[in-house]
Amino acid sequence: MSLLLDHITYTYPGTTHGLHDVSLRVDTGELVAVIGPSGSGKSTLLKLVAGLETGHTGSILLNGENVAGKPMHQRNIGMVFQQYALFPHLSVVDNVAYGLKLRKVPLNERQNRARDLLALTGLAEYAERSISRLSGGQQQRVALARALAIDPLALLLDEPLAALDASIRGHLRDQIRTIQKRFNATTLLVTHDQEEALTMADKVAVLKDGRLLQFSTPEEIYRAPANKAVAEFVGLSTILPATVIARDLIDAGFARLATATGHRQVGQSVFALIRPENIVPTPSSDATNRISGHIGTQRYLGSIYRYDFLADGAALPLLVESHQIAGNAIALPPEHITLLDS
Ligand code: ADP
Repeated sequence: MSLLLDHITYTYPGTTHGLHDVSLRVDTGELVAVIGPSGSGKSTLLKLVAGLETGHTGSILLNGENVAGKPMHQRNIGMVFQQYALFPHLSVVDNVAYGLKLRKVPLNERQNRARDLLALTGLAEYAERSISRLSGGQQQRVALARALAIDPLALLLDEPLAALDASIRGHLRDQIRTIQKRFNATTLLVTHDQEEALTMADKVAVLKDGRLLQFSTPEEIYRAPANKAVAEFVGLSTILPATVIARDLIDAGFARLATATGHRQVGQSVFALIRPENIVPTPSSDATNRISGHIGTQRYLGSIYRYDFLADGAALPLLVESHQIAGNAIALPPEHITLLDS
């Protein structure tokens, strides 16, 4: 089972908003997370796949079949929304069996299937409960079991954790991922939470202004963002405007920094991306890219400190994460400076 979006373009009538030439692929059992700032087109993409919006150009192939023109109920897609959208007057087991009832599966068979699903999602003991007596996290697992009960060709998760407390979100993330893998469900997850995307997904699609900026593994998105917009959206970083002044040397205004410049020409404007965990506090006096300055705002996060380092002569603070607070110098290891074309 696979889901393929091939050059999808869609604009809302009378506007220029929507999606512009978006292509991505979710292979069997993969979870692809779609992230991006508010208004970037995440919901639009999900609605097109689900059949809730129609009229795009390009094709959406579910298991190799073009679903254009097929109404939502014929696409055999399972959906989980931010708000649980369960039926409060039905028991847990009847909620899970609901999609099977619509498909005219005989009573016994659908009850058995629903109970199997509840066992596999760790909810067996709640089968007869009313929905209102479940916690938010449990309700989302019921919604997931209900979506999987119909044996969908694809599973669409629309901000499934956004309405829950931070304390249970992390745990439910792991549970959803385990269940998704157990069912080998071909899954598209939409989230505004980049940490959720990085931890749960096999691949991440980053959208902005309706365009796909990057589609890669979480590691690649974090380590080698395609451009400044991706770098700004995913993870914490300092992004310094700079100019290439020689082979493997850039000028960031307050300092000249050694780093691989690759194919770039002398005089070219670039952005130098540095992740906070890669900055070395209290370096030796002969360290490469050693910079002096002083500590700005500090935040103690329990396992580490996150703080601003104000380099002498720099307009921007450098964001540092480390186990101890630097003194009056840091170093930027050349191999951890990633250049992005401006
Ligand atoms: P996201 O889910 O990433 O926040 P959306 O897919 O909801 O983004 O929206 C993408 C763009 O389309 C935004 O500019 C939004 O204002 C616009 N948009 C969304 N829904 C409609 C609509 N029904 N009519 C017109 N424009 C819309």
